[in-house]
Amino acid sequence: MSLIFFPPPLQQINSEITRHAGVDLYVLRLDLMHPWVNGNKWFKLKYNLLEAKEKNFTTLLTFGGAYSNHIYATAAAGNLFGFRTIGVIRGEQRLPLNPTLSFAVQQGMQLVYLNRQTYRQRNTAAVQEYLQQHFGEVFIIPEGGSNLNGVRGCTEIVGEAMPTAGYAYAFDHICVACGTATTLAGIALSLHQKQRAIAFSVLKNGAFLAQEIESLLTNYLASGLPAPYSSPASWELVCDYHFGGYGKVNDQLLLFSQQFREEYGIPLDYVYTAKMFYGVMDLLKQGFFRRNDSLMLVHTGGLQGNVGMEQRSQSGSVKPKTR
Ligand SMILES: *Cc1c(COP(=O)(O)O)cnc(C)c1O
Repeated sequence: MSLIFFPPPLQQINSEITRHAGVDLYVLRLDLMHPWVNGNKWFKLKYNLLEAKEKNFTTLLTFGGAYSNHIYATAAAGNLFGFRTIGVIRGEQRLPLNPTLSFAVQQGMQLVYLNRQTYRQRNTAAVQEYLQQHFGEVFIIPEGGSNLNGVRGCTEIVGEAMPTAGYAYAFDHICVACGTATTLAGIALSLHQKQRAIAFSVLKNGAFLAQEIESLLTNYLASGLPAPYSSPASWELVCDYHFGGYGKVNDQLLLFSQQFREEYGIPLDYVYTAKMFYGVMDLLKQGFFRRNDSLMLVHTGGLQGNVGMEQRSQSGSVKPKTR
């Protein structure tokens, strides 16, 4: 299943800030693995697709907001690997479809809308049974691909770092943006004990994510799914760079991503990666890392949130929501 993907490049960032802090900083470009099925959302989908194939399901059903990176990736991956796909979208239908949803439809995804109240109950037995009855035998993937199959896929992220096997272990810190913590959990499970995973919460009041990380790690290790090591590496949760909360931005963040793109040719999304990159640069200025440390920043892809942001600023009403 991985043959159609490009190995993600590891791109070095040399700046005044890294030189001053005395660190090596590299970006793992998961955004460049495939034009449509990329970033951490591919890793979270991989074992869900394999399980669906194994169990002879022909249709995948999943959930997301109207600007969801996960809906986008599921539509494209389903099409590539020969599944029918159904996207259950939060809220009312808005026409014309935004670029994320028109892409999904182009990829063959059938869209269904759930009002926000029912959507909130999407993981209950009642709603899941209703969906099964309505759509027949469907393989249900949770919102964001955030289940143990998702964690399993994310244990493979850091190992993708080229050019040589084992190269990834040269990094002291692996930094990643954190929404549900599925990606962080997978990464922490795949690191050597001397390495550290650092999660940057994109949510306001993200401290609860520490509990989430703990339980994902415990549940994963108890599940019997393959784990590279019998215990996770150390990890840390940084909660100071949410910029007001999920999907919220300010001028400082917008300016930062614009400059970052101009200087290094790396596009960042405002919902996730821009906040993490900003946070790392700020921590470097504060002397949070030691001299000679080496950092790998995982570019988790996903630019659908930017589309939402741009539409909002044009119409003044559409709220950016991804996931
Ligand atoms: C979904 C997403 C994340 C968050 O991943 P979690 O596993 O939910 O923590 C980070 N970055 C991007 C670009 C995403 O689309």
